[in-house]
Amino acid sequence: MKVLKFGGTSVGTIGSLRNVKRIVESIGEPAIVVVSALGGLTDRLIATARMAAAGEGDIAAEIDAMEKRHSDIIESLVATDRRNAVMASVGKYIAEMRDVYKGISLIRDLPEKTLDVIVSFGERMSSVIVANILGDARHCDSLDFIKTEKWFNKNIADRTLTDDLIRKSFGSKLEHTMVCGGFISRDRDTGEITNLGRGGSDYTAALIAAALDADLLEIWTDVDGFMTSDPRIIPEARVIPRMSFIESMELCSFGAKVIYPPTIYPVFHKNIPLKILNTNNPDAQGTLIDDSVQEMEENVRGVSSLRQISMVTVTGDITSNVAQINSRTFNAMARGGISVFLVSQPDCDSSFAVTMPESEMENAMTALRTEFAPELQSGDVLEIKSRSGLAVIAVVRESIRKIKGLGARLVNTLLRNGIEVMAVSDGTSETTIALVVDIGDVNRAMELVHGACFSEQQNQLLR
Ligand code: ADP
Ligand code: ASP
Ligand code: MG
Repeated sequence: MKVLKFGGTSVGTIGSLRNVKRIVESIGEPAIVVVSALGGLTDRLIATARMAAAGEGDIAAEIDAMEKRHSDIIESLVATDRRNAVMASVGKYIAEMRDVYKGISLIRDLPEKTLDVIVSFGERMSSVIVANILGDARHCDSLDFIKTEKWFNKNIADRTLTDDLIRKSFGSKLEHTMVCGGFISRDRDTGEITNLGRGGSDYTAALIAAALDADLLEIWTDVDGFMTSDPRIIPEARVIPRMSFIESMELCSFGAKVIYPPTIYPVFHKNIPLKILNTNNPDAQGTLIDDSVQEMEENVRGVSSLRQISMVTVTGDITSNVAQINSRTFNAMARGGISVFLVSQPDCDSSFAVTMPESEMENAMTALRTEFAPELQSGDVLEIKSRSGLAVIAVVRESIRKIKGLGARLVNTLLRNGIEVMAVSDGTSETTIALVVDIGDVNRAMELVHGACFSEQQNQLLR
């Protein structure tokens, strides 16, 4: 059994929905289909909610436009005998949406919980529509089986409960193709509507695939596969035919937006292969991600970048107890729920740096100042300072350290082109070399790094 996930652009227009229908109907056996909201709708729902909270704009007109977009699709693609029922279901959601927006306009406030309800309408509507476009398909409500719990200020999937509910919801054998919305969930304790984070429909599909031991997870999107870099930044990027789970996990957690990062882990754990395919070009080969660690040609797999990064540097006499400083730093970060992207020692003897999302920098500073309070007092740690407005570039392949001196050569390439490298990962990763640069330099740095790894002259750099 296959799980297929179609992203916003795949369900965004009448043309692409026709492709979705063709793709799913050609499978020849029941499958599970997970869909995102119509392309751009989640952004629009959020923007409209902010307008309502600010008392700006014509909210009714915004909702009318969203309603029209859905009803045009229903008119064009849903068979006449089902059309009224689907219009009525979507109409009910639109009416509910109007009420929520009215509430926001009245109180002039937009609590997180209300925003979660607002964004859920996207997938709730699209999934009903897609279920009724596909022949012999049934709709099922992800809110019944994707459950989250609070973790610091985030909602994260409760895997045990979710796995159990998915198995109960779908049973052991599919009689029909089932369609459900990605992204949306409910809090396991309060029952309130939550979600898995922006881009989270990929993760919904992976949770379902893993719980049901699917044979394959297909992520259908708007590019021909996982590429050597984001094609919007690097037009020369090319499709990677095959990569390992670990490589995809690294590239995604360092910003390759083609898959939502938590997606890989559940399928990796169950060894379920994952394919990235193009809804608008279904014959393209795509990318196969599985556990085959290939002895590949001497090349890197891909390059990605993450923006809005901060770096916190601890300076002092750290030579004698680096290991302890490392572990204390990691523990302090973990206790604060802060994700650390990389650790580096810009200057081996006297400084130690950790890199995290800009939004978590204040918490990181507090956590480290608390952890190293005794050393700050005694003078062993001289200062803890932060710098924002940075980006991380990640160069990824399994066993990357086999390419001797690659990090140094990439740094030299950037320096020669006038780009300062603030930090380099310290070589502990088997898979990634990460370089920290100023955000203003990141696009040029990406071009240089990608060019160095994938252009015709790459051999000079890589060998
Ligand atoms: P969907 O709506 O299908 O979930 P997304 O916009 O989330 O689509 O992801 C697809 C987009 O990811 C592509 O259009 C591309 O611009 C971007 N992207 C970023 N990095 C990569 C990469 N390494 N390979 C392919 N696409 C990438
Ligand atoms: N619709 C949600 C978003 O735009 C989830 C998704 O598309 O995966 O973030
Ligand atoms: Mg996506």
